[in-house]
Amino acid sequence: MDKFKHRTISRRKALKIGAMATATAAVVGSGLFTRIPAQAETTLPKNPEQIGFLHDQNKCVSCRRCQAACKDLNKWEPGVEWRKVLARKSSEAYLSMSCNHCDNPACLTVCPVGAYTKREKDGVVIHNREICVGCKYCMYACPYHAPRFSEETGRISKCHFCYERQDKGEMPACVQACPVDALHYGKMSELRKTEGGVSQVKGLPNPDLTKPNLVIIPKP
Ligand code: SF4
Ligand code: SF4
Repeated sequence: MDKFKHRTISRRKALKIGAMATATAAVVGSGLFTRIPAQAETTLPKNPEQIGFLHDQNKCVSCRRCQAACKDLNKWEPGVEWRKVLARKSSEAYLSMSCNHCDNPACLTVCPVGAYTKREKDGVVIHNREICVGCKYCMYACPYHAPRFSEETGRISKCHFCYERQDKGEMPACVQACPVDALHYGKMSELRKTEGGVSQVKGLPNPDLTKPNLVIIPKP
């Protein structure tokens, strides 16, 4: 696999994207997101096999079992959250977020040691902890703040879409754990057809920055 094949933007641009998104992410982190009109729901990824997540805000009850299942399976270090359920304060709307396995992964672009790869077979973006040097460039570049730094290990880690489970025909742990069917995964070419699905809700970064593979069914 050519790990640099997906460097479609320069390292400098990728770091700029991260800086631009920092203010936005702070809003997301504080739980202030609200719906805005659909933007890129018709944009299909370049790889027809690309997979992604779909989160239905109308079904999600914020039980956080998706988060817990990921933590149990991947043994997060303290303060390292690969998946997080965000809350809108003004109404009961939630958003379960992880890495979006973007078409233009800024994390991969900026990494100076090539710790990131994007699989050809399904577009999953995988981080190799063994060669990570903990410089945090990817953390600054990612508009979704998906790469997390561990003080314990001095390295980054992030969601890998349970690719090893998927290779055995199993679901990602977060999707399997959801008791109300709010979290799905599948080929983006299919998920994008979901009625009412959008690529962005207010408070999330502009999807044109990295082309995230995420569909949200927003709560009105
Ligand atoms: S969400 Fe962030 S970490 Fe995940 S692929 Fe996109 S840029 Fe990389
Ligand atoms: S497990 Fe399902 S219902 Fe519970 S927080 Fe996650 S997405 Fe929402």
